[in-house]
Order: sequence, then structure tokens, then C-alpha cells
Amino acid sequence: MTKQQTLVLIKPDGMAKFLTGNIITELADTGLILVGSKVVQVTRELAEEHYQHLRDEKFFSELIDYIMGEFHVKRVLALVYQGDNAIEKVRHVVGSTDPEKAEPTSIRGKFGRITKEGVFENVVHASENEKESEREIKLWFRPKELVRTIFPTESKEVKKVEYFWKS
Ligand code: UDP
Ligand code: MG
Repeated sequence: MTKQQTLVLIKPDGMAKFLTGNIITELADTGLILVGSKVVQVTRELAEEHYQHLRDEKFFSELIDYIMGEFHVKRVLALVYQGDNAIEKVRHVVGSTDPEKAEPTSIRGKFGRITKEGVFENVVHASENEKESEREIKLWFRPKELVRTIFPTESKEVKKVEYFWKS
């Protein structure tokens, strides 16, 4: 058993269909611990960095539009789960990439679809392996946004502007 962490994204189609509750319930059945969570408006820069390994695929530009919410709503829910074999456990409940081929009882099998343009609207992203999960978690989250320190950190002094509610 290896303790792992994995990034899950509830994609814009999952958000538009109000599936966050259903998906988090399914993920809870894995027994993994939720260590981070936030709603994100995905910029083109973040989308292209996240899917950089797919940049030569013919569906890349549509995939970027999809994850940015151009077809649904402009938000995703980013989650980090931790526990034994977290990557495989989550990929199992998530199901295959192609929602038509995914197990009918998996999240993608239940809620995903292929559009007539051929885009896989498969509701969730889940990290594929340890190298990717580390890269993805570091891309989406700052250390302080997670309740556990899962990777080594370093401190840097920065000058920044903070926003407060107007009084
Ligand atoms: N994708 C697609 N068509 C394909 C393959 C992938 O639209 O033929 C999209 C789909 O949204 C998928 C994402 O690109 O989730 C990333 O692809 P990957 O092969 O990494 O699949 P995943 O790891 O998400 O199962
Ligand atoms: Mg992948």
C-alpha cells in the first residue's frame, strides 16, 4: 500500500448539471481523505498547462474550451484526496475516459456523454499516476490551501496586494 494523493476536477459540465454532491458522495465511498477543495475559474494559461501533454492531439483546442467552461459554466471544483492507492481508487470510481465505454456504474458512465461534435464530456478529471498527480496538485494548489503538507515547501518573501470586503 502506498500513500498517495490525487487531483480531482469536477469539470464545467458536472458543475452545470449540479453534480458536485453526487460526485463527492461517490468519492467518499473510497474512504480517502479530502485535504483540499476550491472553486476555480480556469484561465487559458492554467488549462493549457494542465493539459500540456495533449497539445498535439486534434481535440486539444476543444478540450481547452471545454475545461475553461466555454460550453457550460466558467467554473470547476478542484479537490485533492489522500490515502492508500488514492490514484487507482479514484480512477476506478471515475471510470474510463470515453463515457460511452465507461462502466455504467462509474461517475463517467452515469453522467458523461459525447457531444455530436465528438467532445468527451466526461464530468471529472482524475490524475493518472504519481508523477502527474504531483505536477497537477502543485499547479492547482498552494501549500497553505491544503490541510496537510504533502510535498516539501519553502518560504519566499513577496510583496502583495490583498483584497478585503469594502466597509
Ligand atoms: N478527450 C477527448 N477525446 C479523446 C480523448 C480525451 O475529448 O479522444 C478529453 C477528455 O475530456 C479527457 C481529456 O481529454 O478526460 C484528457 O484525456 P486523457 O487521455 O488524459 O483522459 P483521462 O485521463 O481524463 O481519462
Ligand atoms: Mg489524463
